[in-house]
Amino acid sequence: ETIGTKLTHIAQQFPGREALIDRPSGRRWSYAQLNHDVDTLARGLLAAGLGKGDRVGIWAPNVPEWVLLQYATAKIGAILVNVNPSYRVHELKYAVQQSGMRMIVALPGFKGSDYQGMVEQVHPECPDLAAAAYIGTPSWDALVAGGATQPADAVEQAMAALDANDPINIQYTSGTTGFPKGATLSHRNILNNGYFVTETLGFTEQDKLCVPVPFYHCFGMVMANLGAMTHGAAIVIPAPSFEAAATLRAVEEERCTALYGVPTMFIAELGLPNFADYDLSTLRTGIMAGSPCPVEVMKRTMAEMNMAGVSIAYGMTETSPVSMQTLMDDDVAHRTETVGRVHPHLEVKIVDPGTGETVPCGTPGELCTRGYSVMLGYWNDPEKTAAAIDGERWMHTGDLGVMFDDGYVNIVGRIKDMVIRGGENLYPREIEEFLYQHPDIADVQVIGVPDERYGEELCAWLLMKPGAAALDQAAVAAYCEGRLSRHKVPRYVLVVDEFPMTVTGKVRKMDMRERTMEILG
Ligand code: ATP
Ligand code: MG
Repeated sequence: ETIGTKLTHIAQQFPGREALIDRPSGRRWSYAQLNHDVDTLARGLLAAGLGKGDRVGIWAPNVPEWVLLQYATAKIGAILVNVNPSYRVHELKYAVQQSGMRMIVALPGFKGSDYQGMVEQVHPECPDLAAAAYIGTPSWDALVAGGATQPADAVEQAMAALDANDPINIQYTSGTTGFPKGATLSHRNILNNGYFVTETLGFTEQDKLCVPVPFYHCFGMVMANLGAMTHGAAIVIPAPSFEAAATLRAVEEERCTALYGVPTMFIAELGLPNFADYDLSTLRTGIMAGSPCPVEVMKRTMAEMNMAGVSIAYGMTETSPVSMQTLMDDDVAHRTETVGRVHPHLEVKIVDPGTGETVPCGTPGELCTRGYSVMLGYWNDPEKTAAAIDGERWMHTGDLGVMFDDGYVNIVGRIKDMVIRGGENLYPREIEEFLYQHPDIADVQVIGVPDERYGEELCAWLLMKPGAAALDQAAVAAYCEGRLSRHKVPRYVLVVDEFPMTVTGKVRKMDMRERTMEILG
């Protein structure tokens, strides 16, 4: 099955059920209407000369047209290229040129970003880019209307020529550790993964999922959109980009049963001054994922947001994305302290990064994933692909994990973030979890900085709670005394107002290291 045939079938099975609800504009689609509008847009794309294998970019925050284009491209076999809403001119040019984009669909602008102006600026340098259409303007209307010239069965014909293993999506990674890489994914990769993610949450056509995570990222496009669609469930867009209050209002007013988010989103929601006023009684489940999920935040989400069934998922863009997830009937310790166990039809192993040999349970090593979810490769980059996927099709994630006897896995950090101090491996995550318990600390990140004597030394960046006095190195050391081994106590402490973040809500430790070196000289 392909993404297009799946949507067609779901629309036949659940024609009257709600599919898509856009709160900012008040527009709502049933599955029958969604499928109809998708087919109309797909005919428009065909009329514009696009077809199987052509790259079509989408550059917008969470608006319903994003979802329409996701399915319309899937029906005709055009490869959707997700463009990060925070990109600027040089990154846009890279994505357009690197993917060989033939058409780009964009919102004219959003929150001070002039997308149309930037597209027009790079256009002359992008010879493959034949057309641009701007959502909510005559160029979008013309794209949709253009399909009227196509025969009634044009979309069916196009769908019939597709194979589940065809590439259908290029997703750039978050760019947490460097320049984003374009993961090329097939129908089989992402359609199956979306299905298993929400199957784990017990989704049916009765569910309504609130989606504050960006569509451009796999968390939105696959885990939310495909996850809901494969079960005939609805998705609710609370706002075009994350807003804590709009998210909880959407849950309350739409009576959502599920909510997704990265940890920082849940922290912001729980921290709203009028948090207690929202009626979250319809929530039952959801997913926290994307970066390490602090145990405290998980516990509060379960208890205070009525999300007893919240699940942690671990994954990466290159694996469609999820490879491990906690189950709703796991005990609380497993559900707050691990990222769960391997997903159906996938394999995971933990290896010694030096030798590639599988390590015993309880020993940290590099996590590797194999199975249907592993990407086809990085778009037009055989070297990076070969460095990530080995001859036996194992994806080397670059993440460090520990597997326990019962198959549950704990992520201890990224290989790139591991600190080697005086020959000893230190995992910033462990020190962050410890300092997070300090009553005055709102959030904490730990990095390694170069040191002549030890090779590397630890530096903690602290965000203080409102009204709390800044802590210095001596105060942090005193707090750690007797509770954390000496060599794990940060040598440097910086109190800051914010951490450098990606739009997917991840901390860019690379930037933190650079800035720390500037500050420390
Ligand atoms: P880049 O590859 O460009 O540096 P990125 O790795 O952040 O960016 P994504 O594919 O969005 O790009 O994120 C995948 C990564 O997110 C994983 O490799 C892992 O480090 C982290 N991650 C995802 N889920 C979890 C989780 N539940 N716990 C801890 N880390 C997680
Ligand atoms: Mg990555």
